[in-house]
Amino acid sequence: MIPTRKSRSILIRDLPIGGDAPIAVQSMAATPTTDITATLRQVRLLEAAGADLIRIAVDSKRDVEALRQIRTETDARLSVDLQENYRLAELVAPLVDKLRYNPGHLHHHEREKSARDKVKYLVEIAGANDCAMRIGVNAGSVAPHYKERFADDHLSAIVQCAADHCALIDDLGFQHYVVSIKDSDPQTVIHANLRFAEARPDVPLHLGVTEAGMPPDGVIKTRLAFEQLLSRGIGDTLRVSLTVPFDEKGMEIAVGRELIADIAAGRFRSVPPNFFDGLNIIACPSCSRVENTAFIELAEEVKRATAYADEYDLTIAVMGCRVNGPGETDDADLGLWCGPTQVHLKRGEELVGAFGYGEVIARLRAELDALIASRA
Ligand code: SF4
Repeated sequence: MIPTRKSRSILIRDLPIGGDAPIAVQSMAATPTTDITATLRQVRLLEAAGADLIRIAVDSKRDVEALRQIRTETDARLSVDLQENYRLAELVAPLVDKLRYNPGHLHHHEREKSARDKVKYLVEIAGANDCAMRIGVNAGSVAPHYKERFADDHLSAIVQCAADHCALIDDLGFQHYVVSIKDSDPQTVIHANLRFAEARPDVPLHLGVTEAGMPPDGVIKTRLAFEQLLSRGIGDTLRVSLTVPFDEKGMEIAVGRELIADIAAGRFRSVPPNFFDGLNIIACPSCSRVENTAFIELAEEVKRATAYADEYDLTIAVMGCRVNGPGETDDADLGLWCGPTQVHLKRGEELVGAFGYGEVIARLRAELDALIASRA
């Protein structure tokens, strides 16, 4: 039930992606990269779960030094998430097999430099170090230029951004790259990837529903998108993003393999037309930027404490850090982003206040009650 894919095949070290290659399953270390022991433990846990590729975030020179140490201790295929500081590429490329950059983060440094020049720099570094690349477009951090150009058309903004970056890399004569276009809404993931694959069937695609949240809902949202895409021959590698305790991160790999096996065997799960009605809780899968591991328990507590509002069409977003949390909660009716000791509670784009981990649930419920009352 998985048709032949039309993408070209690239290599991430010895791992073929695209073309006839099996669909690769990957995940990401959720621990702070500078905590070498915890990150290595995470890498080994994901490797034992069968991960083909493991991503580690790097955002500072301290992270680079930690990664250098981690590299000496593991032979796992590693991908680096460059996050906002793309200039670290030259330091990390010799240590990893793949560089991921987010076009929406390139503007944070050297604002006077063009995106083209920054991509050229990345491509040259990748080429010199035998690294593959990923253009990782994320709906929560769309590049400002695309946000302005496609103000009312989010889908076009993310697809066009990916297509333009492919054109930039093609112009530079580099072929070893994949693209991902992720959103927390599975329908957007489906439509964006369908549209992109139609325009660029040659480019291998990395699939994912970002901030899918906790199982089982996070698994269902992901399955929904993957069933529609893989069954059309779209998708060459994937990540299942789940909000689970660090020690259970291997679940992302197990679920990914199970989804592929089910789709290949024609075992599809249908969802009723009202599946998206009611309360929607989105939560980030956590990464090295999580500032307090209590975030994961908080996400679970949010789910339990708001279950009474199940029938209301509202979205609550729970994010693990101050870097992406503020922006990625903007579109939710109520948002929480977690700092080291406090959780920031938002109503749409407006900040309600910062509260301790022990008190924020009561404040969230008060906001939720007010929202429900205002819609009565
Ligand atoms: S919101 Fe922050 S902690 Fe969560 S996955 Fe994104 S960058 Fe990582």
